[in-house]
Amino acid sequence: MLSNSLIELDRAHLVHPVSSFHGHEQQGVRVLTSAKGATVTDAQGRQLVDGFAGLWCVNAGYGHDSIVEAAARQMRELPYATAYFGMGSESAIRLAAELAERAPGDLDHVYFTLGGSDAVDSTVRFIRYYWFAKSQPQRDQFISVEQGYHGSSTVGAGLTALPNFHAGFGIPFDWQHKIPSPYPYRNPVGQDPQAIINASLTALKAKIEEVGADRVAAFYMEPIQGSGGVIVPPKGWMKAIRNLCKEYGILFVADEVITGFGRTGPLFACTEDEVVPDFMTTAKGLTSGYVPMGAVFMADHVYQVIADGAGASAVGHGYTYSAHPVSAAVGLEVLKLYEGGLLENGIKAGARLMAGLESLKDHPLVGEVRGRGMLAAVELVTDKIAKTPLPAESVPARRVFDRAWDNGLIIRAFANGILGYAPPLCCTEADIDAIIERTKKTLDQTLEDPDVR
Ligand code: PMP
Repeated sequence: MLSNSLIELDRAHLVHPVSSFHGHEQQGVRVLTSAKGATVTDAQGRQLVDGFAGLWCVNAGYGHDSIVEAAARQMRELPYATAYFGMGSESAIRLAAELAERAPGDLDHVYFTLGGSDAVDSTVRFIRYYWFAKSQPQRDQFISVEQGYHGSSTVGAGLTALPNFHAGFGIPFDWQHKIPSPYPYRNPVGQDPQAIINASLTALKAKIEEVGADRVAAFYMEPIQGSGGVIVPPKGWMKAIRNLCKEYGILFVADEVITGFGRTGPLFACTEDEVVPDFMTTAKGLTSGYVPMGAVFMADHVYQVIADGAGASAVGHGYTYSAHPVSAAVGLEVLKLYEGGLLENGIKAGARLMAGLESLKDHPLVGEVRGRGMLAAVELVTDKIAKTPLPAESVPARRVFDRAWDNGLIIRAFANGILGYAPPLCCTEADIDAIIERTKKTLDQTLEDPDVR
């Protein structure tokens, strides 16, 4: 049982990320104590299907002994080795090589970080360095997409375009620009894929011209916008944007922190649009959340420019825990699991998830169901024709989240009434069916909410 003292200690001392501090004090913490497969157990002994894989990261699912053993083995042999000063560890070298072999195109060079935010941050630093090395230091402007999320460092949060990450923090910087999200469900040009692609191309061209074609350093996007509400651009969108960046000589960064490692089906989502980015950022599924790690993939042509630019000098960017051997050992084992059947299972389970969620389309609260693979969203509305979002103030996301929790389901309930799904790839048919059935129950209860009607 969860003792009251633990709740009090949490209230007094643990500052929770992305939360209302006072709201959390009132609500109190929900403590998770153990997990296996796709099921987590809380301190009350309640079993919940984790429809969100932690924070879209436990792609392999919980309780893999082989991952625990890989970490323990590495900790016993060599718990730490710096990658500074020309040193390294076998696990980090092997993981870099395995990843480079599987990455699209010439993304042959891997720079390990601690997670996604510092992976994004690292790309910004490398990109500035690249343009200095190309004698174009004036290329210091960055463009990203509304409703995008690129981490919680000051620089990454500025590339992010979600109001909570800006308000009160004094960002974005004036060198960080945005174009509208392709958001098919709410795009002013409608839902026709080509019209959406054309609108984004026009917007990006206009933004580049406005900023100055010789000033733009890079463009950032997610293959599917995650934290913005699981927004799925039409097929061909990424490729069209990538090609436009190439025309202008602008570096293209695919942020695959969520979409990487089987979340949408393949190991990397950009392969679904046959895109080879100049940089690709990953984290989360890389170690399946068992230990922290991120990875920046750098194209060979970029690497060579940076290397030549630096010459005999050190490229001054690094973390104490860059290329951590324990994280790398976990990454190697997780990769084996993905290729040993988990990716395949994720594809099957993803099809069942999408079919199940689509069966809820006629529910009076469901405006749209969207997703790919094991990444999905249900957008709730009070009027399907007018696409009226749920009243944010009277029906806070927290209430939908709480109802789902009480029904034995963890989902992401975005503040704008979008429910997010990213279950572990190991889900059984029964897990997926439980997610659907518990979602339906949650929606029915929400419909009874006097604030909704
Ligand atoms: N980029 C994207 C697309 C993300 O979704 C996230 C995390 N949700 C990040 C970057 C930041 O990763 P982290 O939380 O590991 O720092």
